[in-house]
Amino acid sequence: MDAWPRTIVHADMDAFYAAIEQLDNPELRGRPVLVGPNSHRGVVLTASYEARPARVGSAMPMALARRRCPNAIVVEPRFARYREVSRIVMGVFANFSPDVEALSLDEAFLDMSGSSHLFGEPAALGRRLKAAVADATGGLTVSVGISGTKYVAKVASAHRKPDGLTIVSPDRAREWLAPQPVAVLWGAGPKLQGRLADLGLMTVAQIAVADPQWLVAAIGKTALHLQALSRAEDARSVEALRHPKSISSELTLETDVAAHEEIRRHLRRAADTVGRRLRKQAYTARGVRLKLKRSDFRILSRQTALSEPTQSAERLWQVAQGCLAQIDDRGPYRLIGLGAFDLAAAGGESQLDLLCTATERSAKLEAALDAIEDRFGPGAVQRAVGPRGRGPR
Ligand SMILES: [Mg+2]
Repeated sequence: MDAWPRTIVHADMDAFYAAIEQLDNPELRGRPVLVGPNSHRGVVLTASYEARPARVGSAMPMALARRRCPNAIVVEPRFARYREVSRIVMGVFANFSPDVEALSLDEAFLDMSGSSHLFGEPAALGRRLKAAVADATGGLTVSVGISGTKYVAKVASAHRKPDGLTIVSPDRAREWLAPQPVAVLWGAGPKLQGRLADLGLMTVAQIAVADPQWLVAAIGKTALHLQALSRAEDARSVEALRHPKSISSELTLETDVAAHEEIRRHLRRAADTVGRRLRKQAYTARGVRLKLKRSDFRILSRQTALSEPTQSAERLWQVAQGCLAQIDDRGPYRLIGLGAFDLAAAGGESQLDLLCTATERSAKLEAALDAIEDRFGPGAVQRAVGPRGRGPR
């Protein structure tokens, strides 16, 4: 495949939420499962493959899905668990390529260009990726499409779901797309499909050969985009997730404050929020920034670099208080913000600060609080000092 100009993989977990429920609860295996809130107003998030012959699927009102599939078992979603499995799956992808673009919890593009010496030809690569996902998750299946563009790889992964593996060599991508319905073209929603049908355009091939001026006149500029896709032209590259520059929490206050004691209490709350987000997103910070907005809207800020990276709220709070002490202004302030910057992926030596005995206890406490919030939702735990404001941003 090194003869391919680019090798792009699209990997999409099969019925992800429902498959996790079936993995965790053997009684659900082989049975129709609907994941979603069990209420009349809820919608189905994922239907297991056993439920799909009854014509139920994602985004369908739960009430309708239950009528169509009366023997389905409805399971409340467990997002913390889905995120946990997602991290495992994304970790597997990262072992295959440094360039992974996650599209959602269960779907990603991988740029595998020039890696056949490591992973073999596309078919072998696809089988290895599928086996690695199954192995790491205890048996979940993923559908994989491999081609020379993101677009064709994505259409290919959906081609033979579940547990599919579809390889479309770039030099025959256009031919492979040709007989497919226009619905496979990104941007061709139901309304546009109807319009295209009115024009007699039912297949990708018909779009590919249509006169572009006529097509633009008929359906607008989106025609050019559809036509490029229909010819398997898609120059976009896989965009690996970049680190955010900073993670911050700002609170506009109900009443302006000036007393440092009061400001410190607000900073504690902001530090808790930022610390939690750092841990959740697996980043450490080497810088802390304090931001104050005066009642005349003038902004004051101070920042400090840390000797050791941290993800501890306690540490962020300490440093922010040091920043506060450097501010020679009497306020009052209408907004208080705390930001963590100079971020790096957590792991290895960046965990040092967490392991220091001085902060070990607070780190353990913070991890415990994270677990409670994962289970019971944000705000389940309030610090006794936690002040209320007009709401965090
Ligand atoms: Mg999926």
